[in-house]
Amino acid sequence: MASLSLKHIYKVYDGTTKAVNDFNMEIRDKEFIVFVGPSGCGKSTTLRMIAGLEDISAGELRIDGDIVNDVEPGDRNIAMVFQNYALYPHMTVYENMAFALKTAKVPKDVIHQKVTEAARILGITEYLARKPKALSGGQRQRVALGRAIVRSPKVFLLDEPLSNLDAKLRGAMRAEITRLHERLGTTFIYVTHDQVEAMTMGSRIVVMKGGFVQQIDTPKNLYNHPANLFVAGFMGTPPMSFHPATLKKEGNTVRIKLDSGPEMTADYATLNRAQTRYMDGAHPVILGVRPDDVVPWREGMDPTAWAKLPLTVTVVEALGGETLVYGHIGVAVPDESPIGAAAEDTEAGKDPAATGDTLIIKAPADFEAHSGDTVYAAVNLAKLHLFDRETEASIKPRVPTENVCPCAVADGHLAFAGQRFPLPPALTEKTSQEDAPSSQTAPPKAPEGELSLPAEALLLGTGMGRAKVEETEIFDGDTRLRTLYRLTVGGMTLFALESAPPRYRVGDSVPFDLDFSRIAVESHGITPLRVENTLDGRFTKEKELDDKGRKTYRFYLDMEDQPVAVAEELREKLFSCKGTAILRALLSYRFPPDAVTVSPRQKEPDKTALMGRVTRLLDYGRITYAAIDVGGKTVIAPYDGKTGESHENAAVSLTIDQTKLTVVDREADIVIV
Ligand code: ADP
Repeated sequence: MASLSLKHIYKVYDGTTKAVNDFNMEIRDKEFIVFVGPSGCGKSTTLRMIAGLEDISAGELRIDGDIVNDVEPGDRNIAMVFQNYALYPHMTVYENMAFALKTAKVPKDVIHQKVTEAARILGITEYLARKPKALSGGQRQRVALGRAIVRSPKVFLLDEPLSNLDAKLRGAMRAEITRLHERLGTTFIYVTHDQVEAMTMGSRIVVMKGGFVQQIDTPKNLYNHPANLFVAGFMGTPPMSFHPATLKKEGNTVRIKLDSGPEMTADYATLNRAQTRYMDGAHPVILGVRPDDVVPWREGMDPTAWAKLPLTVTVVEALGGETLVYGHIGVAVPDESPIGAAAEDTEAGKDPAATGDTLIIKAPADFEAHSGDTVYAAVNLAKLHLFDRETEASIKPRVPTENVCPCAVADGHLAFAGQRFPLPPALTEKTSQEDAPSSQTAPPKAPEGELSLPAEALLLGTGMGRAKVEETEIFDGDTRLRTLYRLTVGGMTLFALESAPPRYRVGDSVPFDLDFSRIAVESHGITPLRVENTLDGRFTKEKELDDKGRKTYRFYLDMEDQPVAVAEELREKLFSCKGTAILRALLSYRFPPDAVTVSPRQKEPDKTALMGRVTRLLDYGRITYAAIDVGGKTVIAPYDGKTGESHENAAVSLTIDQTKLTVVDREADIVIV
């Protein structure tokens, strides 16, 4: 059994270089996790922090539930295999493998049994009497693995173990390590810069860049649903090609206009997971196309599934099993593509950062094409990738998190997709207030707007809305299980996301409601209620005398100059992550509204709750929130004061669930807990 939990892990070198930023991951028992990314992205540093070879600057590392930040490497029950196998040259293979057990005073017969068993698993029994210099690279690497196996560790950490081997041997060892993982049934964490290694070995992959985790998912999901341009370009060979473009939705179709000229048309249904707000013909996007999703055009292909694009061939690579055809989108203009330039452009097409017009066709081996030819490519429209050109984030994520659709706001109602909901008081006040000054002089505001509705704010089960379930999909690749429902609502596609197993089936007709505190209709001044509160402060201690007159210390979360007694668990975490430096740090405390319980003010401040005053009530129908002034800052919290009472300026105390607190080092901008 070995599960690992990494929460807000940071590594800061020399007080300034952040090698690893806010690494969060839950690793289950028996998983094969691969950390992959270009050199210097923080993979090894993360692995070494897990091994205990490197201090953790901030954050919490647990193995099987226990915090191990301060546990010595030797006591973590972890074995690490490095790139350079570091075998003892004067010892035999047997002695090399037995060494750690011998030092640990394990009985001789147990050592013998473990070493021979490991040698058998690794196929090196016949070399046990040899010295390392009489072994090949692959055999030495096996001995290095053997030294780790005999210790029966809970977790195997492997840092680029194959990078000293030649390509052929690497391939074979890859398969062997995968088999070893299956046989041993322990948790493996494997570091590599090689995306092919990552894709073939990992049950889940962590893609890193510049010290930041870019995406954590299964190889298949990373390939099919890259979260951003970097992941898209890094995973897959030949790489995805990128094309600057704009999208325009016209009825049930979407026109995809490449900046370089050509256009494609897709059914909206094909792209319905892409965020519709990018389909206005103006938002700059980047279209990503994998060579796997481009084939030579054949007569009779379904034009709603495949887009036909002309291609001027630059390079043809016959690989035996298949032929890769590189070309520029568009028909050649004579004398405009000299051979040298064409070759250069092909190189650019291989560079993920390049945003040219090079496309790659994966053609059958017998496909005939020559440089300068015009051929027609068929692009699989269902497999297109789309990214925001500025943020580089996917706008067609695996889990659609936002619905955007036309709506009307009028007469205190929100209407969209054939549904009509009364606006809660918090929003009618807002919209009418903003209308009021101009209503005398200007014509009334057009009721049409664009509703932005997070998939988690479409609440299934009760309410005035009606939806039909078209598809359910479960996501459990990351930390929590979620169910995505694809719904038809008044002829439109909408998504609902729940953190629960599926409870409706395809074909079900389900009522639904909205969480109005999370919707936006920008044109009507409707914005989501803030989802996180922030209070600034410090962590302080006070000397006290206990009942026997002994000196003790009490610790407080000092929020906006109000001390709140710290919960035992949080105190331990703060000290284990930052030591006594925590007492000097400038902190911010962040917490969601539902972490706060509001009650009428106690007579005296009692250092368990914060004191505040209600400034405003926000009635969202299902829930009423209060805006509460705490030392000049506003905290939003659920408020169940009875209607009709006077709440303005009510003195309240706020109890914060400290398990839901995020504590940030304000100066270093590091999440501590
Ligand atoms: P990777 O394993 O992905 O190649 P590393 O984890 O080794 O990357 O390094 C991440 C970053 O931390 C790099 O920028 C590297 O220069 C820096 N780094 C690593 N070790 C040290 C150190 N001992 N002192 C200062 N910076 C370091």
